[in-house]
Amino acid sequence: MNQDCIFCKIIDGKITTQKLYEDDLFVVVKDISPKANVHCLAIPKEHYSKLADMSERQAVDLGKIFAKLPDVIANVLGLANGYRLIINQGEDAGQTVFHLHIHIVGGQKMDFIPA
Ligand code: AMP
Ligand code: ZN
Repeated sequence: MNQDCIFCKIIDGKITTQKLYEDDLFVVVKDISPKANVHCLAIPKEHYSKLADMSERQAVDLGKIFAKLPDVIANVLGLANGYRLIINQGEDAGQTVFHLHIHIVGGQKMDFIPA
């Protein structure tokens, strides 16, 4: 728990946000400023700011989170027609919250094809 981190506060229940999904490793919440018809965030419960700061164990946990995400995305978020996952890393990518998180965007055709 990082006292100054908004996502730690969400995980800790200090900021009231509807958790669409929660298990021992991560939560899924709606993004407060959606950039697509569906825009949610999968947030690991442990605080680390970027992939570069992740421990080996946290990397294993992130793997487990990715293994679970398709089920949550299909059955909780209802995205049956595809989606995009984004992890912004650092300033050039526009990262604003320095607690690693995965954007889940979907519910529409993507008009921006970066890769
Ligand atoms: P990033 O720019 O990749 O660091 O993404 C941070 C995201 O967190 C942005 O899309 C914000 O809209 C979102 N965000 C910030 N505060 C909250 C909050 N309290 N609840 C939900 N999403 C938030
Ligand atoms: Zn945090």
